Amino acid sequence: MRFSRAFLPVLKESPSDAQIVSHKLMLRAGLVRQTAAGIYAWLPLGFRVLKKIEQIVREEQDRAGAQEMLMPTLQSAELWRESGRYDAYGPEMLRIRDRHDREMLYGPTNEEMLTAIFRDEAKSYRDLPRTLYHIQWKFRDEVRPRFGVMRGREFLMKDAYSFDLDEASARLSYYTQLLAYLRTFQRMGIRAVPMKAASGPIGGDLSHEFIVLAPTGESEVFYDAAFEEMDWNRSDLRYDDPVGLHNLFDDVTSTYAATDETHEEDRWADISEERRRTGRGIEVGHIFYFGDKYSGPMGLRVTGPDGQMVAPMMGSYGIGVSRLVAAVIEASHDDAGIIWPESVAPWKVGLVTMRQDDEATVAAADELYSRLKGAGIEVLYDDRDERGGVKLGTMDLIGLPWQLVVGPRGIASGVVELKNRASGEKEELSMESALARLT
Ligand code: ATP
Ligand code: MG
Ligand code: MG
Ligand code: MG
Repeated sequence: MRFSRAFLPVLKESPSDAQIVSHKLMLRAGLVRQTAAGIYAWLPLGFRVLKKIEQIVREEQDRAGAQEMLMPTLQSAELWRESGRYDAYGPEMLRIRDRHDREMLYGPTNEEMLTAIFRDEAKSYRDLPRTLYHIQWKFRDEVRPRFGVMRGREFLMKDAYSFDLDEASARLSYYTQLLAYLRTFQRMGIRAVPMKAASGPIGGDLSHEFIVLAPTGESEVFYDAAFEEMDWNRSDLRYDDPVGLHNLFDDVTSTYAATDETHEEDRWADISEERRRTGRGIEVGHIFYFGDKYSGPMGLRVTGPDGQMVAPMMGSYGIGVSRLVAAVIEASHDDAGIIWPESVAPWKVGLVTMRQDDEATVAAADELYSRLKGAGIEVLYDDRDERGGVKLGTMDLIGLPWQLVVGPRGIASGVVELKNRASGEKEELSMESALARLT
């Protein structure tokens, strides 16, 4: 993408209405714009990051054996009356009437809808186990939408739902999602610690929240430093190994991690002082096991192996896809701007000309641009007629992992500069070695 043709509105000043760093940076670097309270338009740069995060979530769900589908945003109130949640959900639910005066709502979550869809198709135990997911916009009329997309009213969520014959099998589905979540967040370059959660309005007893540490997080957290060393992409962890999944769950739950809601002082006291970590955290994902809470009242039944009708045991698994864009920024930035982990960066390379009026500079940069693009590398090419210093500042602000800087002095001696945004390290290289490094 050529910057001169791009829609990348960058602000010089920090917007005064934003309180936390990710919100400020998302406005300054032109990721989003608010269109109504808690509702945001995703501009090209923000949209590219959102899609990268969504794709990592999708790939890990697919690897874990979940199947993608797509359910609508609008739902019928009837469905929610069947589960008994229509009245219970309260003012967070946006309720709408259509022209025939039918009661509708903008879905805050999809347990009811998928339970109803599955109920009409599943006949016997052979239709189990199944895990289905979609990545779709949700609406929750939050009392206090704030911090930009961190707590929006309309937000993008991945929500998965599992159906199993019995509790033992449902636990395995839960452990499978647990591993998928650990891997998903690790791939995004963030450390999300699974913490025992108090079960909320969705109900059930087995539940974990995934929390990213950030000083601006809404909950207080306590965890064992052992979580800082764990590698979830170890090859001995496999989805097709039930014993390994059980062990993973035992490891995760025997290592202390809790939010202020579930904190246990006596277990905390047993952890040696130097291993105690406390701070604040952001909830980026949440998994629940809730048995027959929906299948029961909504009449989802299948015939078991013995011919008896049984209600499948269910779980649901959410990831805040749009919230993650902000959470990654909270976890990865400096005074100059965002530092994108390569896996979610909007472009991998920012190519900059220091002097757009210098022919040799522009010719060299044009060549680098076309060769990088030819090699399938995502490049943002700042070919604007702006001062070099301004362009470098913009690159730092939008935080692409690599900056490739071309200027008249370097070109005269046959070199370009390659800067790593995260470490700040700069290197002078020939064009060929710079290309070799980036492709
Ligand atoms: P919170 O405690 O932040 O209100 P929640 O517990 O109500 O979140 P869940 O029902 O567990 O949310 O939904 C799954 C995920 O959706 C959350 O872990 C979070 O990442 C995301 N999410 C929930 N509410 C919002 C929101 N208002 N804006 C952005 N993301 C959200
Ligand atoms: Mg909430
Ligand atoms: Mg919560
Ligand atoms: Mg939650």
